[in-house]
Amino acid sequence: MNEKMMTCIVCPRGCRMKVTFEGDKMLSCTGNFCKRGADYARAEIAFPVRVLTSTVTINSYEVPRLPVKTSAPIPKDKLFEAMEKLKTLKVSVPVKHSDIIFSDFISKGVNLISCRSVNS
Ligand code: SF4
Repeated sequence: MNEKMMTCIVCPRGCRMKVTFEGDKMLSCTGNFCKRGADYARAEIAFPVRVLTSTVTINSYEVPRLPVKTSAPIPKDKLFEAMEKLKTLKVSVPVKHSDIIFSDFISKGVNLISCRSVNS
């Protein structure tokens, strides 16, 4: 049995939780104020995911970099690969907020999208 301290990030309260688990199965969770904390801990143990937010190169006079994010969470163990892929991307203006910069980015069905509009 393994034990891990974890902070729930579902709401701003940020409960500190003590979680025990075996492999990818959660055995117990304490310190959570509500059920969502245990659900978060269970998912973190079984299959941790994150929304990636970052920036990419853009050929713009307005901004030095374009803020981007994934349209859905991607596996946490793919974040390094995703960051490496971001380094290879170069976006051309104009770009609108929510434009798809890259389809099926790292995970099928997850797109990399623009977080702002840039005209020139
Ligand atoms: S356990 Fe509940 S109250 Fe605590 S941070 Fe998570 S969602 Fe918020």
